[in-house]
Amino acid sequence: NEPLLEVRDLHVEFHTRDGVVKAVNGVDYSVNAGETLAVLGESGSGKSVTAQAVMGILDMPPGHIPRGEIVFRGRDMLRMSGEERRRIRGAQLAMIFQDALSSLNPVLSVGFQLGEMFRVHQGLSRKDSRARAIELMDRVRIPAARERVGDFPHQFSGGMRQRIMIAMALALEPDLIIADEPTTALDVTVQAQVMELLAELQREYNMGLILITHDLGVVADVADKIAVMYAGRIVETAPVHELYKRPAHPYTRGLLDSIPRLDHKGKELYAIKGLPPNLLRIPPGCPFHPRCPRARDVCVAEDPPLLRVTDPDTPPGEPEAELPGRRSACHFWRETIRDE
Ligand code: SF4
Ligand code: MG
Repeated sequence: NEPLLEVRDLHVEFHTRDGVVKAVNGVDYSVNAGETLAVLGESGSGKSVTAQAVMGILDMPPGHIPRGEIVFRGRDMLRMSGEERRRIRGAQLAMIFQDALSSLNPVLSVGFQLGEMFRVHQGLSRKDSRARAIELMDRVRIPAARERVGDFPHQFSGGMRQRIMIAMALALEPDLIIADEPTTALDVTVQAQVMELLAELQREYNMGLILITHDLGVVADVADKIAVMYAGRIVETAPVHELYKRPAHPYTRGLLDSIPRLDHKGKELYAIKGLPPNLLRIPPGCPFHPRCPRARDVCVAEDPPLLRVTDPDTPPGEPEAELPGRRSACHFWRETIRDE
């Protein structure tokens, strides 16, 4: 059972006038069919750039991939012919962006734009592709699809437009969808509805889903596993419920502590001090050390690799149990997971 997509030791750089921006620095992650991976991080953490590398949006300068593999169904896309790569990215991968209004063409009806997928990729007639467009609009539960198929993007609400984006992504029944902050522009109630719809369709079509977000609150109910990114690397991975219960990296703990919670009413909300690093000058050692409440000398001197996290509650004398899928890039993951 090989993973659908495996990103291995991916590095992405941007050559700018000010120097080399190291946007992604050795990222590994994988997604299986029917699985949802949430990639969490602040802006500039490399979460979107990693996805863009997978989608091939970086193939042009100044973006550059000096090292790494992007393995789709067992084959490295970075080492395929351009033609083959385009075929995979056209039909088997799809992406949903945050801003539907700028992704849709304002002067074409949504039905035309949805239908275009079928005309271009499957050679359907105008009439048949319109019928498929209506079907898709029904699938993503846009009310009165038949009446609205000729409407333009601005005639839909933000939530409905995002459903249209989901419909576009689904059109060719891809194996993998990457959704980059798909609900960030929407208000909270609509966010939940759109996220629920996406999760439901993902299960129904047995697709892999990579959900990119800066908001831990959005992913709790839909993701299977999480990768937390910071300064272009993954600093923690875990099955979703375990990450919430027992984070093993101080950055993740900080993110969790800064989510407003009902039972904390009245208390001041925690905020991680400082700002993410400038990617032209990533701090030495652990890149999180200038902001970390736990930092010590070793953190400045040594960059921690992504370490295996074992069960700290194992009774003494027994070998510590492996926690499947759990890794942390922190010298003090043990103290962190125990919240000492
Ligand atoms: Fe903090 Fe040190 Fe762990 Fe980095 S390695 S997260 S600085 S405790
Ligand atoms: Mg982004």
